[in-house]
Amino acid sequence: MFSNNDRNIKKCLELIPEHSLAVDFKKKFPQSHRKKAVFLDRDGIINFKMPEGDYVKNCNEFKIIPGAIEAICELKSAGYYIFIVTNQRGIALGLINQETLNAIHQQLINILSKKGSSVDGIFICPHDYADNCECRKPKPGLILRAASLYGFEDLNDSYMIGDSFSDIEAGKAVGCKCIYVNQNDICLKADYSCGSLMEAKNYILHNVFQR
Ligand SMILES: [Mg+2]
Ligand SMILES: [Zn+2]
Repeated sequence: MFSNNDRNIKKCLELIPEHSLAVDFKKKFPQSHRKKAVFLDRDGIINFKMPEGDYVKNCNEFKIIPGAIEAICELKSAGYYIFIVTNQRGIALGLINQETLNAIHQQLINILSKKGSSVDGIFICPHDYADNCECRKPKPGLILRAASLYGFEDLNDSYMIGDSFSDIEAGKAVGCKCIYVNQNDICLKADYSCGSLMEAKNYILHNVFQR
């Protein structure tokens, strides 16, 4: 007996001309009715992270990792919603205020806009450990907020990309596929590990395995 899922897949298969390749199949049925997103951690994924214990505190310290902008543009063009989900404990510690954080993000938005691209949302946890909030990763609050705001039914076609185990944990908690970015290390809980957002993008869009 077919499960519902099998039946749906079978139904789709009947609609594909015989000569079609799997890749055409994807093109022919782009995301159908299901929404898909790439949730991006910020520090260490889009911009270089500061040394342990320090935080990006102003626009000058926000240095973009080569290839990150291009990767975001491509993922966005491919039909993924792009959400940045970032712990910014520096706010709780008084190292940076909301205004400066907004200015940093406006800078990122301007760069993307010049390339004809954008992000769909930037979701921030400004809390400290002791606040015991629902949004600080590894809790999935930021992801859930974005998903509910944009009317996602589920996150099974979505990805979480981060350079901390807490990013992977947050993504896994809500059913995302997870990609761990680290030049030297892998994360066994992630679906894939690679060295940069660009490599993660190649995996998602082109099925390219860098390692
Ligand atoms: Mg990070
Ligand atoms: Zn929080």
